[in-house]
Amino acid sequence: MKGRILTGDRTTGKLHLGHYFGSLQNRVKLQHEYETFIILADVQALTTHFENPGMLSENLRNVAIDYLSVGIDPEISTIFVQSLIPEIAELTIYYSMFVSVNSLRHNPTIKTEAKERGYDDLTYGFLGYPVSQAADISFCKANLVPVGEDQVPHIEMCRKIVRRFNELYAPVLVEPEALVGDVPRLVGLDGKLKMSKSYGNAIYLSESYEEIMKKVRNAVTDPNRIKKSDPGNPDICTVFSYQGIFNKEDKCNIEEMCKGGKIGCVECKRILGEKINEFISPFREKRAYYESHPKVVDEILLSGTNRAREIAKETMREVRAAMKINYFD
Ligand code: SF4
Repeated sequence: MKGRILTGDRTTGKLHLGHYFGSLQNRVKLQHEYETFIILADVQALTTHFENPGMLSENLRNVAIDYLSVGIDPEISTIFVQSLIPEIAELTIYYSMFVSVNSLRHNPTIKTEAKERGYDDLTYGFLGYPVSQAADISFCKANLVPVGEDQVPHIEMCRKIVRRFNELYAPVLVEPEALVGDVPRLVGLDGKLKMSKSYGNAIYLSESYEEIMKKVRNAVTDPNRIKKSDPGNPDICTVFSYQGIFNKEDKCNIEEMCKGGKIGCVECKRILGEKINEFISPFREKRAYYESHPKVVDEILLSGTNRAREIAKETMREVRAAMKINYFD
């Protein structure tokens, strides 16, 4: 193993193809090279969903099944539940004593997310998200965090927090590095924005054959194309950008036929829908197993959480000793 990785997702809903290409695919590969910890960040889900904690239980299991169905192997990766590791919350509090509010306010990711969500009066939890994330990463002494470009400021902040802790008290924590993957963002079915649950433009890993065919039928294409014989422009067509991912071998042929008005959008979308279904089909088989064995999923989560908790307890013993607050040890 080359080192330890911390990765994961907020448990706000089921995962989609954007998650698959943006991170899951990479995690499946990395788990064979690095000791992998995957956090189901249910506490952080509350930063934006605090009014509806009832959704966490179902979402937690849905995300776990998404992981298992795409090939995260619980024998080699540790999947754990954030809220069941109270040491993470404790570490977050210690960090929050020396992280300035201004450094959080100026964090570009926080600024962008707050703007996108229309927040002007930020909650303590939302503003403090990077502090909590620093605790997620450092409790298990992960030295690498696979992220997209937009998450780099969070990792930078985590490095600063850990460095400050080590300087203030004792060098017991590990400064992580961002492992930035070269992953182009998957555009949503609307062709305008990245694929995201909040934009309603996503294809979910758990969707049925029919649901996927229907969504692809409604995807945005070249708007200037009315009849099949109209020459199309694949460069501005969302469906064509997906053909390049799911139907690589036929992409050039489709491009030529589209430009020459030799294929209709209905047929082009049907081909794509079949290809996406072919791609998702092996995930469906695994999903069916886990959905019909919910106890197996719960056991995987409990055993991963126990393992992560043991590490958290050990780290916090060192943290408290470094801060000289281990009064009775
Ligand atoms: S034929 Fe295919 S690539 Fe061309 S505009 Fe229609 S959906 Fe897009």
